[in-house]
Amino acid sequence: MRILLVEDEPDAAAQLARGLRDRAYAVDIAADGNAAVEKAYVNSYDLILLDLMLPGKDGMAVCREIRGAGSAVPILMLTARGDTASRIHGLDAGADDYLAKPFDLDELLARMRALLRRAPVLRQTVLRVDDLEIDTHSHVVTRGGRVIALTGKEYALLEYLAGREGAVVGREEISEHVWDEAYDPFSNLIEVYMQRLRKKVDGEGAARLLHTRRGEGYRLAREEEGGD
Ligand code: CA
Repeated sequence: MRILLVEDEPDAAAQLARGLRDRAYAVDIAADGNAAVEKAYVNSYDLILLDLMLPGKDGMAVCREIRGAGSAVPILMLTARGDTASRIHGLDAGADDYLAKPFDLDELLARMRALLRRAPVLRQTVLRVDDLEIDTHSHVVTRGGRVIALTGKEYALLEYLAGREGAVVGREEISEHVWDEAYDPFSNLIEVYMQRLRKKVDGEGAARLLHTRRGEGYRLAREEEGGD
């Protein structure tokens, strides 16, 4: 899942981004309102964490602009203000939820998961494909009851494919939702990670769940239909 973090204080932004990346999220940072709107237009975010107090264009204006452009991306507003008036304004401006600073990272992560579950990608906490189980809360992945140890990025890629179970997911879509803006479209990182995932998820003796459609992308499903 790819997150846009809009926060003007560099230390706070870096600390929060680190916490989110530790939880396998891809994170882009925007330090002001104009950069936030621009990035939201250019990239496909799964969720936006939006600080209310920003230099220049504030969080309310950013929220209204993003909604005005027709985007339904989940927006969670972060602010020092805990009062009812700004909470109502934030929700009226199109935010989906609101969290007052200082907040606990675990609470933020729980609110994020709740918002992400509203999207078609992640409806359930535990995703199941055949005997593969992905717990999107604990990030524990098992196949046939056996725990599979994955790195954060391997986990993020598998979770994304599982959320699109049965669909062919192209490289561009994967790079947009699993990697951040530092991703080099000419690299073979996705192939490398797919190979690693195959080794871990589709080990010896197990039925193949990860499929490649040449020239199209990848598919996580119980059986392949006409691919390799
Ligand atoms: Ca701020």
